[in-house]
Amino acid sequence: MILTHAARLALATLALLVSAAYASWQSAPEAGESAPPLQRGPFVMNRGPDRLAVRFPRDEELQYSVSIALGVLGTPTVGKVTMSSKVEPFTPTDAPLLEGAQPTLEQVLVSAVAEGSYAVYSVKEVIATRVLPQLFPRLEHTTTQTGSENRRRELLIGRRDDAPISTYRSDGHCKGCKERKHFVESTWPWKDAAHCDGCKRGEHRDWRDPRTKEIPEGVLDMVSAVMLARTMVEQGRSEVQFTLLDREKLWEVELKRGRRGRRKVSAGEYDVVEVLLGARAGVAAGDDSKGQGEKKEEFVGLFGMHGSISIWMHPESGVPVAITGLVPAGPVTLDVVVELIRARGAPESFRAVVKPPAKR
Ligand SMILES: [Zn+2]
Ligand SMILES: [Zn+2]
Repeated sequence: MILTHAARLALATLALLVSAAYASWQSAPEAGESAPPLQRGPFVMNRGPDRLAVRFPRDEELQYSVSIALGVLGTPTVGKVTMSSKVEPFTPTDAPLLEGAQPTLEQVLVSAVAEGSYAVYSVKEVIATRVLPQLFPRLEHTTTQTGSENRRRELLIGRRDDAPISTYRSDGHCKGCKERKHFVESTWPWKDAAHCDGCKRGEHRDWRDPRTKEIPEGVLDMVSAVMLARTMVEQGRSEVQFTLLDREKLWEVELKRGRRGRRKVSAGEYDVVEVLLGARAGVAAGDDSKGQGEKKEEFVGLFGMHGSISIWMHPESGVPVAITGLVPAGPVTLDVVVELIRARGAPESFRAVVKPPAKR
């Protein structure tokens, strides 16, 4: 009884949506007519009713320096992070388009590239998310680490059979196969090359089997979560809650606008607002095994930042100006400072209060 009622309601909603789409199509200007050029705003990712839609700049690049605060020893720069957001056309792969049809579908690629080195250890990490105009994957989140260590991870978020799901896979060193590229020369000249039994070479690593699971509605990955935080600030919202999926772990995250102030970074001096982040472990849909005896984990953000992370954003545009936080590095915990060096393609409203002195 309840089921048929729900089905009827769903059908009615669907009919409404279809007629609304039809109406907007009807009123669209004829092709060829001199319609005024569209002032294209940001790429908008809708997340359903009651959830703040996430906005992405069409072509933006933000560069940051990463330094470690060492107190009296100063704040040496150890690396840089480049964050970019770019809208690209999206052509569905297996559905041929009608002749003369305008492929207006779009996708957005947001990536954060971190490069750094410390002593003999070097790292390049690319964390990227693609927002695609399809049910699955809707979000394609990848992490690729190269340098002294090599690692790849992939998280796909979307809907299948009308249920929100995620698929996660990571790579690992091959345990033994016939691939010659996995073989290494023996240190003894009379012995044949044999399959490597463990190293950090990227080309010796293979994808492990993906794992699929059901997730709650409206889940975001780490990168789209950053864009949601920006949107919250830009849209003048005081707070936003959402579920974050990091690898296979769900977190209930709450973002709030904090104190306002000024911050001087290499790119200039900016008005800023602090974004306060609160996170507690979430429970997966249909998972009732968790919660008991599980040790309390600490939330770890982008690039392994954890503990008291402070995010400072420009209040009108949401552009991150500075991020400070703690990053564990072996036996020590580093006090990391990430500061904006330069910005290109940022929203119009992003303006410095005081510009940096002109370079000579
Ligand atoms: Zn192998
Ligand atoms: Zn190997």
